Amino acid sequence: MRRVVCPGSFDPVTNGHIDIISRAAQLYDEVVVAVAQNPSKTTLFTAAERVELIREATKRYDNVRVDRFEGLTVDFCRDNDISAIIKGLRAVSDFDYEMQMAQMNYNQAGVETLFMTTNPLYAFLSSSLVKDFAKFGGDVSGLVPANVLERLNSRLAES
Ligand code: ADP
Repeated sequence: MRRVVCPGSFDPVTNGHIDIISRAAQLYDEVVVAVAQNPSKTTLFTAAERVELIREATKRYDNVRVDRFEGLTVDFCRDNDISAIIKGLRAVSDFDYEMQMAQMNYNQAGVETLFMTTNPLYAFLSSSLVKDFAKFGGDVSGLVPANVLERLNSRLAES
Protein backbone atom coordinates (compact mmCIF):
# COMPACT_ATOMS: atom_id res chain seq x y z
CA MET A 1 0.00 0.00 0.00
CA ARG A 2 1.34 3.44 -0.91
CA ARG A 3 0.99 5.54 2.19
CA VAL A 4 2.09 9.13 2.88
CA VAL A 5 2.06 11.24 6.02
CA CYS A 6 0.99 14.86 6.24
CA PRO A 7 2.40 16.15 9.55
CA GLY A 8 1.77 19.43 11.36
CA SER A 9 0.30 21.17 14.38
CA PHE A 10 -3.03 21.97 12.68
CA ASP A 11 -4.01 24.47 15.40
CA PRO A 12 -6.55 24.55 13.80
CA VAL A 13 -6.76 22.87 10.39
CA THR A 14 -7.42 25.39 7.58
CA ASN A 15 -8.71 25.13 4.02
CA GLY A 16 -5.05 25.29 2.91
CA HIS A 17 -4.31 22.06 4.81
CA ILE A 18 -7.52 20.42 3.54
CA ASP A 19 -6.52 21.30 -0.02
CA ILE A 20 -3.14 19.56 0.36
CA ILE A 21 -4.68 16.55 2.16
CA SER A 22 -7.36 16.05 -0.47
CA ARG A 23 -4.91 16.33 -3.37
CA ALA A 24 -2.55 13.88 -1.65
CA ALA A 25 -5.50 11.50 -1.23
CA GLN A 26 -5.82 11.35 -5.01
CA LEU A 27 -2.19 10.32 -5.40
CA TYR A 28 -1.80 7.81 -2.56
CA ASP A 29 -3.69 4.76 -1.33
CA GLU A 30 -3.72 6.23 2.16
CA VAL A 31 -2.93 9.65 3.64
CA VAL A 32 -2.18 9.74 7.36
CA VAL A 33 -2.62 13.20 8.84
CA ALA A 34 -0.31 13.24 11.85
CA VAL A 35 -1.07 15.84 14.50
CA ALA A 36 2.03 16.83 16.44
CA GLN A 37 1.58 16.93 20.17
CA ASN A 38 4.28 19.08 21.67
CA PRO A 39 3.84 19.57 25.45
CA SER A 40 6.13 22.62 25.46
CA LYS A 41 4.07 24.44 22.81
CA THR A 42 0.95 26.37 23.78
CA THR A 43 -1.95 25.66 21.45
CA LEU A 44 -5.53 26.94 21.25
CA PHE A 45 -6.87 23.40 20.79
CA THR A 46 -5.65 20.25 22.51
CA ALA A 47 -4.19 17.48 20.34
CA ALA A 48 -7.38 15.44 20.81
CA GLU A 49 -9.50 18.40 19.66
CA ARG A 50 -7.26 19.04 16.66
CA VAL A 51 -7.56 15.37 15.66
CA GLU A 52 -11.34 15.48 16.01
CA LEU A 53 -11.64 18.68 13.94
CA ILE A 54 -9.59 17.15 11.11
CA ARG A 55 -11.56 13.89 11.26
CA GLU A 56 -14.84 15.77 10.88
CA ALA A 57 -13.46 17.96 8.09
CA THR A 58 -12.04 15.04 6.09
CA LYS A 59 -14.76 12.44 6.61
CA ARG A 60 -15.71 12.52 2.94
CA TYR A 61 -12.28 11.09 1.99
CA ASP A 62 -12.26 7.41 2.84
CA ASN A 63 -8.51 6.99 2.43
CA VAL A 64 -7.59 9.71 4.95
CA ARG A 65 -6.72 8.66 8.49
CA VAL A 66 -5.95 11.05 11.36
CA ASP A 67 -3.62 10.20 14.20
CA ARG A 68 -1.48 12.07 16.70
CA PHE A 69 2.14 11.71 17.67
CA GLU A 70 4.82 13.05 19.94
CA GLY A 71 8.46 13.26 18.97
CA LEU A 72 10.02 12.86 15.55
CA THR A 73 7.99 12.56 12.35
CA VAL A 74 10.48 9.96 11.08
CA ASP A 75 9.76 7.76 14.12
CA PHE A 76 6.04 8.03 13.37
CA CYS A 77 6.85 7.01 9.78
CA ARG A 78 8.82 3.97 10.92
CA ASP A 79 6.11 2.85 13.36
CA ASN A 80 3.40 3.19 10.72
CA ASP A 81 5.31 1.79 7.75
CA ILE A 82 5.32 5.10 5.86
CA SER A 83 8.17 6.01 3.51
CA ALA A 84 7.24 9.56 2.49
CA ILE A 85 6.16 12.89 3.98
CA ILE A 86 4.06 15.36 2.01
CA LYS A 87 4.27 19.08 2.68
CA GLY A 88 2.53 22.07 1.21
CA LEU A 89 4.76 24.95 0.09
CA ARG A 90 3.22 28.38 0.24
CA ALA A 91 6.02 30.78 -0.61
CA VAL A 92 9.80 30.93 -0.80
CA SER A 93 9.76 31.81 2.89
CA ASP A 94 8.67 28.21 3.61
CA PHE A 95 11.39 26.79 1.43
CA ASP A 96 14.65 27.15 3.43
CA TYR A 97 13.35 25.53 6.57
CA GLU A 98 11.40 22.82 4.76
CA MET A 99 14.41 21.89 2.64
CA GLN A 100 16.64 21.56 5.70
CA MET A 101 14.01 19.48 7.48
CA ALA A 102 13.55 17.25 4.43
CA GLN A 103 17.28 16.63 4.15
CA MET A 104 17.58 15.93 7.87
CA ASN A 105 14.72 13.43 7.70
CA TYR A 106 16.34 11.69 4.76
CA ASN A 107 19.71 11.71 6.49
CA GLN A 108 18.30 10.25 9.69
CA ALA A 109 15.86 7.70 8.38
CA GLY A 110 15.84 7.60 4.56
CA VAL A 111 12.32 9.07 4.60
CA GLU A 112 11.53 11.05 1.42
CA THR A 113 9.72 14.42 1.44
CA LEU A 114 7.46 15.54 -1.40
CA PHE A 115 6.42 19.16 -1.80
CA MET A 116 3.09 20.16 -3.23
CA THR A 117 2.61 23.76 -4.28
CA THR A 118 -0.23 25.44 -2.48
CA ASN A 119 -3.45 26.33 -4.20
CA PRO A 120 -2.95 30.09 -4.90
CA LEU A 121 -6.29 30.71 -3.18
CA TYR A 122 -4.66 29.73 0.11
CA ALA A 123 -1.06 30.85 -0.38
CA PHE A 124 -1.33 33.50 2.36
CA LEU A 125 -3.14 31.28 4.81
CA SER A 126 -1.76 29.98 8.11
CA SER A 127 -3.34 28.73 11.33
CA SER A 128 -1.77 31.63 13.28
CA LEU A 129 -3.26 34.28 10.99
CA VAL A 130 -6.66 32.63 11.24
CA LYS A 131 -6.44 32.71 15.05
CA ASP A 132 -5.20 36.31 15.14
CA PHE A 133 -7.92 37.61 12.84
CA ALA A 134 -10.73 35.57 14.43
CA LYS A 135 -9.70 36.83 17.87
CA PHE A 136 -10.28 40.43 16.86
CA GLY A 137 -13.52 39.84 14.98
CA GLY A 138 -12.14 39.17 11.48
CA ASP A 139 -14.21 37.07 9.09
CA VAL A 140 -12.40 33.76 8.54
CA SER A 141 -15.44 31.86 7.31
CA GLY A 142 -13.99 31.20 3.83
CA LEU A 143 -10.66 30.06 5.22
CA VAL A 144 -11.49 27.16 7.52
CA PRO A 145 -13.96 24.26 7.36
CA ALA A 146 -17.42 24.99 8.87
CA ASN A 147 -16.84 22.77 11.93
CA VAL A 148 -13.58 24.59 12.68
CA LEU A 149 -15.25 28.00 12.38
CA GLU A 150 -17.87 26.98 14.91
CA ARG A 151 -15.34 25.62 17.42
CA LEU A 152 -13.00 28.58 16.90
CA ASN A 153 -15.76 31.08 17.68
CA SER A 154 -16.87 29.22 20.79
CA ARG A 155 -13.29 28.75 22.05
CA LEU A 156 -12.45 32.42 21.53
CA ALA A 157 -15.68 33.48 23.25
CA GLU A 158 -14.58 31.49 26.34
CA SER A 159 -11.29 33.36 26.66
P1 ADP B 1 3.71 23.53 11.57
O1 ADP B 1 3.09 23.06 12.82
O2 ADP B 1 4.69 22.57 10.96
O3 ADP B 1 4.17 24.95 11.56
P2 ADP B 1 1.08 23.67 10.33
O4 ADP B 1 0.31 22.81 11.23
O5 ADP B 1 0.67 25.11 10.27
O6 ADP B 1 2.62 23.51 10.45
O7 ADP B 1 0.94 23.09 8.86
C1 ADP B 1 1.39 21.81 8.54
C2 ADP B 1 1.89 21.79 7.12
O8 ADP B 1 0.81 22.13 6.23
C3 ADP B 1 2.96 22.83 6.87
O9 ADP B 1 4.22 22.31 7.06
C4 ADP B 1 2.76 23.17 5.43
O10 ADP B 1 3.46 22.22 4.66
C5 ADP B 1 1.31 22.92 5.16
N1 ADP B 1 0.50 24.14 5.06
C6 ADP B 1 0.14 25.00 6.03
N2 ADP B 1 -0.64 25.97 5.55
C7 ADP B 1 -0.78 25.74 4.22
C8 ADP B 1 -1.43 26.41 3.16
N3 ADP B 1 -2.11 27.54 3.35
N4 ADP B 1 -1.32 25.87 1.91
C9 ADP B 1 -0.61 24.76 1.73
N5 ADP B 1 0.05 24.09 2.68
C10 ADP B 1 -0.03 24.57 3.91
